[in-house]
This record gives sequence, C-alpha cells and structure tokens, in this order.
Amino acid sequence: MQKYDYLIVGAGLFGSVFAHEATKAGKKCLVIDKRAHAGGNVYCENVDGINVHKYGAHIFHTNDKTIWDYVNQFAEFNNYVNSPVSISKGKLYNLPFNMNTFYQLWGTKTPEEAKSIIENQINEYGYKNPKNLEEQALSLIGKDVYETLIKEYTEKQWGKKATELPAFIIKRLPVRYTFDNNYFNDKYQGIPIGGYNKIIEGLLKGIEVKTNIDFFKDKVALSALSEKIVFTGKIDEFYDYKYGNLEYRSLRFENTRLEKENHQGNAVVNYNDDHVPYTRIIEHKHFEFGKQKHTIITKEFPEQWTKEKEAYYPINNDDNQNKYQQYKALTSKESNTIFGGRLAEYKYYDMHQIIASALQKVKKELN
Ligand code: UDP
Repeated sequence: MQKYDYLIVGAGLFGSVFAHEATKAGKKCLVIDKRAHAGGNVYCENVDGINVHKYGAHIFHTNDKTIWDYVNQFAEFNNYVNSPVSISKGKLYNLPFNMNTFYQLWGTKTPEEAKSIIENQINEYGYKNPKNLEEQALSLIGKDVYETLIKEYTEKQWGKKATELPAFIIKRLPVRYTFDNNYFNDKYQGIPIGGYNKIIEGLLKGIEVKTNIDFFKDKVALSALSEKIVFTGKIDEFYDYKYGNLEYRSLRFENTRLEKENHQGNAVVNYNDDHVPYTRIIEHKHFEFGKQKHTIITKEFPEQWTKEKEAYYPINNDDNQNKYQQYKALTSKESNTIFGGRLAEYKYYDMHQIIASALQKVKKELN
C-alpha cells in the first residue's frame, strides 16, 4: 500500500513549496533529502548570532507581488539592498554598472559623458547579434567595462572562455545611467529576518521530512512509498546519465571567523583579477546589519564539477542544452514523476523564479 500521495525528493525551495501547497490541499507528503538538513542551498548555519549562507549568498528579490507576499507569510524581510563592489587591478568599483562605476573608470560625471564613451566602444567592438557572453558584454557595455569587471571574473567563475558561454548570463546585470548601486531592478528585495531557515521551517511545518536519505541508493523501495514523485535532483542522474552527464560548475567555500567587528564593510566584494583564485568574499553579518564583535567571511572558489561534488550552476551552453533536451523528452513520458527546480530543469533559476515555478506546477497538479 502506498503510504503517501507524494514523495518529494529534495528539500530545497522547489520541493518545500510543492510539499507545503500539496499538504494544504490535503495530500500526504514525504520529503527526503540526502543532506543532513532541509533547505537546499538557501540553508544557513547560525554561528554565534550570524547566519552563514552555507551554500553561497542568497539575496531575495522579485518584481512579483504574489511571490513577495508568499514568502512574507513565513518571515518578515529586512531592507537589505545588495550593492556589491568589485576589486580589479587594485582599484575598487561599484556594481552593477552605473554612474559611480563610470566615474571610477573614466572620471565621467554626467550621463552624457558616460554614454558617449560607452556608445563609441559599442560601435567599435559591439555585435548586432551577439552569440556568446563576450559579444553580448561588448555590445551592452563596451570594451573597458568588459575588460575591467567582466572578462576575468566570468572566466574564473565558469572555467570557460567568455566566447564559449551563453549570452544570457550577462543580461542578468543591469546597466544604469544613474548613481544607483542597487544590484537588482526588482521592486521587492531583502533578507528574511531570522534567516532563510525560518522560511523553510514554515513551508515544511507539520510535514514528514527525512534527511540523510539518498534517493538513488534506495530508489525502488522509496518510489513504492507514494503514488507520485516530485524529483528536484539532477535530471541526468535520474536517467543514470544515459545520454552522458550535463556539465555543472561547482564551488568550494572557505569560511573564516575573525575576531573583529567589520572586515570588508560590505556583504559582497567581488574579485575580478584572474590571479585571485576566488570570485568573491561574503561577509555574512552585513546581510542582517549585524553588530556582533566577531565576523564570518567566506571566500568562494569556483571549481570543476565531478560527480562527488555539489552541482551549483548549470552550464547552459548549446552542447549541454541539446543534451538536456534529450533528457527532457524522457520526462514528458513520465506520468507519475514531476520534475522541478534548478537541477531537474537544468536552469539558472533565482529563488523567486523557483517559487513561482513550484506554485505553478503544484497548482496544475492539484487541479
Ligand atoms: N559577473 C561579472 N563580474 C562581476 C559579477 C558578475 O562578470 O563582478 C558576471 C559573471 O559572468 C557571472 C554573472 O555576471 O556569472 C552573474 O553574476 P551574479 O553575481 O548575478 O550571479 P550569481 O553567481 O550570484 O548567481
């Protein structure tokens, strides 16, 4: 006898939102995760009052009021605004690319001055139909910004030449002719007061969750527990890599506790230069305006992915997308398995997009 309506594989945002909504509709869910905790990559570890984003910094932002209201059911959000800075060849620049950045690069003080430099560079180096990240960046912002703040960061982040990467990655970054260092264009932004764990706890309240369970180690028995499966893990692994593995980028985090109040004055400092082996240093307390006497910093080192490592980023170039389409064709033949999330959809999703997608899929399912 099947004990559950849904076995949800993966207790990240997609799985947790799905479980929450299905449970609310009277369905019985079991959520499993191979890690020792729920929360997926938004999980935080509290170290003497500082929420350490264990799997990389997460800043919530959305333009969608429904999604904003949805997360606000579980936690109140603070007014943190992400304004990273980047260090390149010994100089510090504001991000995203805005009037402050242009002043720091060229000394330009007005939008006309900055625009004229950028437009000249776009005319000289840009492309009508940019086919890769380098061509896209040159066409969007010109050569100086590309060479000072994008090229080396990007190539170390992805372990590939910017000419081998998809253009869409760089479209994430705004270009502005105002003195506005807000990294996001979205209407709503912040960090949940009390940390992301509060949101996950709220979503999974009253739902059976089992951690330290690897679905692939006991697939047959686990699958027999429920009528349907919601799978949020790696799509290629689900099909035993039958078309070969998709490529991912992994990360290694090096955490250090420092007995001082403030190390870098900002939550996020990027390091563009290729001789610096990490892409950024996160100082977690600044996400929550922490006043502790100590601080925790994390250096983020991009790494080549292998099957034993965490798959953080899908590498959505043409080769991988073609392979993903083969796997996707198999998923459409499944009647009892629902696929969702960054790994199962092989998509560079942000948190708000995952939530929207989970809500949409669960709604469709329950109808
Ligand atoms: N990027 C860059 N320079 C920077 C920050 C980002 O060139 O200082 C590029 C890089 O290609 C990166 C992409 O923009 O992969 C998206 O960066 P973001 O910080 O938005 O993504 P995250 O890694 O936080 O998901």
